[in-house]
Amino acid sequence: MTSSEWDAAIEVLRTATDVTLACHVNPDGDALGSLLGLSRALANRGARTYPTWGTTPLPDVSNFGFLPGLDTLVQPGEVPVTPVFIALDCGAADRLGDIEPLARKAEVLVNIDHHPGNEGFGTINVVHPDASSTAELVMRLLRDAGLEIDQVMATLLYTGIVTDTGRFSYVNTSPNTLRLAADLLETGVSAPDLARELFESAPFGYLKLVGRVLDRAELAADERFVHSWITQQDLKDTDVALAETDRLVDLIRGTAAVDVAALFKEQMDGRWRVSLRSKTRGIADFARARGGGGHELAAGFTARDRDSTVEELKAALRNPSA
Ligand code: 5GP
Ligand code: MN
Repeated sequence: MTSSEWDAAIEVLRTATDVTLACHVNPDGDALGSLLGLSRALANRGARTYPTWGTTPLPDVSNFGFLPGLDTLVQPGEVPVTPVFIALDCGAADRLGDIEPLARKAEVLVNIDHHPGNEGFGTINVVHPDASSTAELVMRLLRDAGLEIDQVMATLLYTGIVTDTGRFSYVNTSPNTLRLAADLLETGVSAPDLARELFESAPFGYLKLVGRVLDRAELAADERFVHSWITQQDLKDTDVALAETDRLVDLIRGTAAVDVAALFKEQMDGRWRVSLRSKTRGIADFARARGGGGHELAAGFTARDRDSTVEELKAALRNPSA
């Protein structure tokens, strides 16, 4: 990433009149916060914006239902071809899902992201693996573009930062992250109100689901590896949406016995979405080799079989070079 790409992105944010914005499929707090925050900033200065992501139709994001601007989302099938397309928090182009072909049709494709494996699929690439979150990058770009960050945008961007840093606890939390977050709070955002919405508003059935996940957790003590799983039946029984299970992997990694944690989540099609978390050892290569990706200490991929994937993970952890 060169400073000229940063400047080019700023020029686009200042001048574009019709902009499609998309985050990755199965959006998390950073994806949604960056998407809706940047869309609002551009709309406030008079641009027509089409915020979306590549799942047709867009599912409910019930766990983020309080976020301002969800009513501005456009179905991916209803997005026109715009000269400018901005991809947010997408470590690879395929994370755009159904909307990737539309992104390819734009004259200018701005790729704003903080995943280290990002190969620069945009015509303008603002890829900063040092940034805590894509929301942090959006905030810095908006500032440099001279666009106002109002309290609503601050709510959205703070959501991105606080979720991607695990409430300011992961390795991506730097003094600068806290300074930026503090500036967002200066606009009047209430950190405790937002924390309650984000971390204490799950439906009651969530507790029962947590119980199942914890009860099933299996430790491979020698490999310092733990794994557990959630089936479609669990989601039915507890009345919890798959989108609400993002933070469960943090629970199983939370003991001294463990360095690496994997949570397997059964999809509608029977395959498993695997969320990997590590305290020290890089696990992104393992995910990338299976068609996924992510950060060194937080990555994901899709697997056909749970047992064999667990064995492969254990074997990789026994091999010091893996
Ligand atoms: P999660 O476990 O929360 O779904 O994902 C952890 C991290 O890995 C996030 O940064 C997410 O964007 C990334 N990630 C998850 N799944 C994939 C995938 O299939 N491909 C890529 N490139 N990144 C992924
Ligand atoms: Mn992110």
